Amino acid sequence: VNVCYNQDLIFLKLFSFMAATPISSLFPLIEHCQQQRHVYLDSAATSQKPQQVIEAVGNFYRRDNANVHRAAYTLAVKATGEYEHSRALCAAFLSAPRTEEVIFTSGTTEAFNLLANTLPYAGDGWQAGDEVILSQLEHHANIVPWQIVADKLGLVIRVIDVDPHGDLDLDHFQQLLNANTRLVSVSHVSNTLGTVNPIETICRLAHANGSLVAVDGAQAVAHCAVDVTKLDCDFYCFSGHKMYGPTGVGVLWGRYQLLDQLPPWQGGGEMIERVSFDHTSYNQLPFRLEAGTPNISGVIGLASAIAFINQQDRGQIAEHEQRLMQSAKSQAAAIPGVRIIGQPQQQSSLFSFVVDDCHPSDIATLLDEQGVFVRSGHHCCQPLMQHLGLEGTVRVSFATYNNDDDVERFIVALTKACDLL
Ligand code: PLP
Repeated sequence: VNVCYNQDLIFLKLFSFMAATPISSLFPLIEHCQQQRHVYLDSAATSQKPQQVIEAVGNFYRRDNANVHRAAYTLAVKATGEYEHSRALCAAFLSAPRTEEVIFTSGTTEAFNLLANTLPYAGDGWQAGDEVILSQLEHHANIVPWQIVADKLGLVIRVIDVDPHGDLDLDHFQQLLNANTRLVSVSHVSNTLGTVNPIETICRLAHANGSLVAVDGAQAVAHCAVDVTKLDCDFYCFSGHKMYGPTGVGVLWGRYQLLDQLPPWQGGGEMIERVSFDHTSYNQLPFRLEAGTPNISGVIGLASAIAFINQQDRGQIAEHEQRLMQSAKSQAAAIPGVRIIGQPQQQSSLFSFVVDDCHPSDIATLLDEQGVFVRSGHHCCQPLMQHLGLEGTVRVSFATYNNDDDVERFIVALTKACDLL
């Protein structure tokens, strides 16, 4: 009885400790910010890292550091095991059918460069006049790699319009689809307007047309559960650092049969089966697309970030971020001179605004002087800015560690900045 009582007491204490402990206390930099009376509202640029991710990276270098997929000694086998375990976690995180479908990259940017440098050359290859459909909402990482290959092969890039709310114009999308459309490459969540795009619908329409779909998930994975099987996309890219993981690591996921047709894009160690000066043959997936020593500690840190996300109640987190975003947006909109940019049907945990007759960077500077950190500028979306007729916006983005106090301090600081200008 005593043992049971003690266990219950321990659980009760643990539960009340956890219930009373804000999630922000798991993030050393956020705790530091709070002590300094600083507010971090730029998680869309990069998220802060929980202690367990920092520990995972540190512990790898303290205890497990060895190169992977090479030597047979104990330490190297352990490092390889951890690295490949991370791949399996990433596959499960995306509900991907096979672990070999996860290719580690340095981030979303490299994932798109990998795709743009290989997919058009797979099989018989794409021909001059073949088309790629992007959208007005895209980040440069999902524009420029396609422009480079389009110049080389004579491809045509078409762009889906965005309506005044910041939603993709699906009628226009259907008009753009034609017999030459090889690929549709669109963001899951816009990094500037927060628009959550209807990926399942886009995949259905594209597939009915015989076209493939690649999805930029950089702004989605930290904020909603991603199931590539349910979305029915063909490729999905994301970065570790925007989802509580380290910088310099990311993922290209693709259907096995499609990835298997991609020619190698970078040559070097590990991507080969056999090398001679007469003939070189290549390794199987996923190694064929990962040349050289990878970012091992980054991959291990990414696994820890996934474990962190999996430990949370994702529905509750999404609700929390949504409530903060909506509250900040509506209070900002009520400040004279502030104009919110875009009101998409479904909006993730960020929004953009401008202030009449003020440069966005002046607003961001005045917020910074009051300890509120936001991003201003074109957000690597210059075509979207041109479409909106804006030089830039101020962007406010939330993550799991933000709270009502952050919203309040942002609104007080923005009111003061608007009064000053
Ligand atoms: N795509 C989107 C929507 C982004 O927000 C970003 C980063 O801001 C990227 C791609 C590029 O990500 P990375 O710089 O991590 O490669």
